[in-house]
Amino acid sequence: MSTDDDCLFCKIVARDIPATVVHESERALAFRDISPQAPTHVLVIPKAHFQDAPALASADPVALAEVVSVGAAVAETEGLDAFRLVFNTGAEAGQSVFHTHAHLLGGRKLEWPPG
Ligand code: 5GP
Ligand code: ZN
Repeated sequence: MSTDDDCLFCKIVARDIPATVVHESERALAFRDISPQAPTHVLVIPKAHFQDAPALASADPVALAEVVSVGAAVAETEGLDAFRLVFNTGAEAGQSVFHTHAHLLGGRKLEWPPG
């Protein structure tokens, strides 16, 4: 499995840095965002290191599908009728951690378009 010793989310996968894990599957991990932007704000990541969603899609589409499925499972557990699952891709789009992650947001009315 690809990992990056300098990557924050790889350290969370390895449990070297603590996180509030809400769901784990073979290829994916879901944990609460440290700075929540909605009543539910969970990050869903592949356990393997890829820099963004397109890189994951190319290298391991099964893992990308599992990230989406885990997001939906967490949304159901959280009792969300509607939710947003978003991959910020590239710094200009707001990506600050370069290990693929989906933001699962819900529990309040979400505006469109996002800022
Ligand atoms: P991005 O800006 O790359 O789309 O999202 C990165 C997310 O990771 C941000 O929402 C940020 O709050 C979250 N984050 C950054 N550092 C940590 C951390 O140490 N633990 C957790 N749980 N979330 C973090
Ligand atoms: Zn990583």
